[in-house]
Amino acid sequence: MGLQARVAVARPVRTTFLYAVPDRLRQDAVPGVRCVVPFGRAPSAGFLLALEEGDRADLKSLHEILDPQPCLPPDLLALGLWLAGYYHSSPGEALLGMLPPNFRTDAAVIYRAVGEESAPAGSGEAKILELLRESGEIAAPAIPSRLHPALESLLREGTVLRQWKVRPRPPPKPEEWFRLTSDTPPAASLLRSPRLQEVLQILSEGPLRGRELTARGTCRGALTRAVRRGWVERREAPSSAVAPALLGFGIPEEELRLNEEQEEALRSLCEGLGLGYRSFLLHGVTGSGKTEVYLRTAAVARARGFGVLLIVPEIALTPQLLGKFAARFGADVAVLHSGLAPRERFLQWERVRRGEARIAIGARSAIFAPVERLGLLIVDEEHEPSFKQEEGLRYHAKHVALMRARTAGAIVLLGSATPDLETYASVLAGRHSRLLLSARATGAKPPEIRLVDVRQEEKRRHAAVLLSGPLRAGVSRALERGEQVLLFLNRRGFSPAVVCRSCGEAVRCRRCSIALTQHRGEGEPQLLCHYCASRRPMPQSCPHCAEACLMPSGAGTQRLMQLAKETWPEARILRFDRDANRAAVRTGARGGALGMFARGEADILIGTQMVAKGHHFPKLTTVGIVDADLSLNFPDFRAAERTYQVLTQVAGRAGREDLPGTVYLQTRNPHHPAVAAVTTGDYEPFARAELAIREEAGFPPFRRLALLRVSGRDRSEAEQAASAVATRARLLGRSASVDVLGPAPAPLEQLRGRFRFQVLLRAPGPEPASVQAILRHLLADPKPYAGQDLRLQADIDPVSLL
Ligand code: ADP
Ligand code: ZN
Repeated sequence: MGLQARVAVARPVRTTFLYAVPDRLRQDAVPGVRCVVPFGRAPSAGFLLALEEGDRADLKSLHEILDPQPCLPPDLLALGLWLAGYYHSSPGEALLGMLPPNFRTDAAVIYRAVGEESAPAGSGEAKILELLRESGEIAAPAIPSRLHPALESLLREGTVLRQWKVRPRPPPKPEEWFRLTSDTPPAASLLRSPRLQEVLQILSEGPLRGRELTARGTCRGALTRAVRRGWVERREAPSSAVAPALLGFGIPEEELRLNEEQEEALRSLCEGLGLGYRSFLLHGVTGSGKTEVYLRTAAVARARGFGVLLIVPEIALTPQLLGKFAARFGADVAVLHSGLAPRERFLQWERVRRGEARIAIGARSAIFAPVERLGLLIVDEEHEPSFKQEEGLRYHAKHVALMRARTAGAIVLLGSATPDLETYASVLAGRHSRLLLSARATGAKPPEIRLVDVRQEEKRRHAAVLLSGPLRAGVSRALERGEQVLLFLNRRGFSPAVVCRSCGEAVRCRRCSIALTQHRGEGEPQLLCHYCASRRPMPQSCPHCAEACLMPSGAGTQRLMQLAKETWPEARILRFDRDANRAAVRTGARGGALGMFARGEADILIGTQMVAKGHHFPKLTTVGIVDADLSLNFPDFRAAERTYQVLTQVAGRAGREDLPGTVYLQTRNPHHPAVAAVTTGDYEPFARAELAIREEAGFPPFRRLALLRVSGRDRSEAEQAASAVATRARLLGRSASVDVLGPAPAPLEQLRGRFRFQVLLRAPGPEPASVQAILRHLLADPKPYAGQDLRLQADIDPVSLL
């Protein structure tokens, strides 16, 4: 009986294919290995999914197997197939997307000749033997597939051998790391040796690489002395970008005594651990010590032999959480994220696959880490929209986490201070258990929130107010007391638009329907598109009416920075947003502005929502929310929820330790429910009211959504295709009472030169089946809507409706 393999080919096709397994590959053909198969005109990579007995004569044969052992275990293979089905992707491409980019193994297949056999001249066998005589061995890809039958017969005769050749990997270069020990005297006691003092001072921020210490001008001799006296520990660690996490950012701290609520949460989690799928929402106010609950639960999971997976919105913004895990669990932690060099990322992934690291931490795509015997899955900041991938395979990592936990029989812990309303609805419906942490763990009081209605001041001054009287006074008082201040403005650049005072038009991106943001750095001001990143110099005159009346309008972080410098000339002010961070990464500054602020090297931090999450600054007492209304008027049914979440997170940075916190919230909508909820801190009434609005208006979680988007360079062509899509969807959805809304131009109508139209599908209830059926139909035969340049995209459970 022959052997046949079902293969998911890594090409944009929605079905899987059967191939015959030639004898030479029988041994290595196991589910989960990658293979090469003939596909259309060229060979293609694929994943072997399953084997079956069979003798279909019409099957093509596998060309080669690429891995000596499966690179995806059975549970991840199954997850990948579910992913492809649910998110309408090709199974092979979905599986490929689960592996680290540049996936490679260090093994390759080679063929070798045994002895000095010969074969009839001109035959395929003779050709292969000739090749082998020339070079001793041949790598599999070098044998053309037309010679495969001859190769088979040589292998059967035993004339040729098939072998795995493992290339030795050069070990990663170790690096020197230094950290303080428990014997280190306080730096202040070393007044007589300033150089030594300096070393200790710098290291008190956490472990550092030797070259970083040198870069900061420390004296090598003093460092050596400190090591000799046992005050500083020197270690060698491989793999540079990962090492800080593995060594821990801080000195291993003594275990905290959990408070009652944390204890209770831990108890519930541990009860469930190992007994099958269960899901929990850890709803803890900012500073309530959720991290400590993660750590303890992870420790218990590990002690019971389970693997742990923790995903966070953005790994670069969570050094503190990462540091704590590393300090507790050391090399048992693997960190997976896109900031790592491909090789390092692969090494981390390998450590997880081989079971060397039982705790995997990473951003969105880490949800596919090959953790064995998965017992605990944590999604930190579960409300974050960034868990949804917005390109290629549009999956939601939280949704995948729940699915993965379900099949693995693991428990899921969703943590947030401001839970996603859909998660909260699941709690109300009894699908998740809620664990509540209602107070700050350090005993600190929640910050006092002062609502500042800027409309009066604006009327008086006849101008937009960026820093109101009460906010200025509050900041000045904090600075006088030597405390730190955070000014939050969720818009980078100098000014969000440049507007002509003559015709009133804003200067727009030529390729996106969006006003260009003015950025000021060194040199002349530039106009930058925040969607496609194209830039151009500031024009002299208006592109619409040619008058020389262009004026920046509105404020971004750069302009706020300028105003803050004028207002508090003595203060040390730093800015942290995507632009500033990119610059810091380029120059290799560790932690950039955040690190400096945490070390007390600055008084005021100005930032976008990148400063909102997770950070703990003990001396930060005063937070200014410069414009609370920015996100309220977004054309999105989640605008109020998002506003509440971001503002609560930012406010939560104030007064996290013994110094009391004050938040100045500047708004023009003081009575908006989201703004009011931030002020009172009451999540539940806000959540219930918002959910009632959603139910009334027919939005998730009460009704399932799917978005179909048609885009093309030609506006009318795209519009016509979109209306054909809508017509077809109406026809398909009528019997299932699916609402079809649109086609309508997307709120962001033009993006990177493409015009975009969308059709929104709305299921009659929370189940996805009816809308999924329509998507499947349309995508199975997209030709009528997809001309040469047209694209049809499907997004199930869309997060961004832009
Ligand atoms: P969250 O993530 O909930 O906002 P964190 O986990 O960052 O809060 O904790 C806030 C602070 O409280 C941290 O400095 C942490 O060390 C401290 N903390 C946590 N649990 C306790 C506890 N049981 N006793 C004292 N301090 C605690
Ligand atoms: Zn653009």
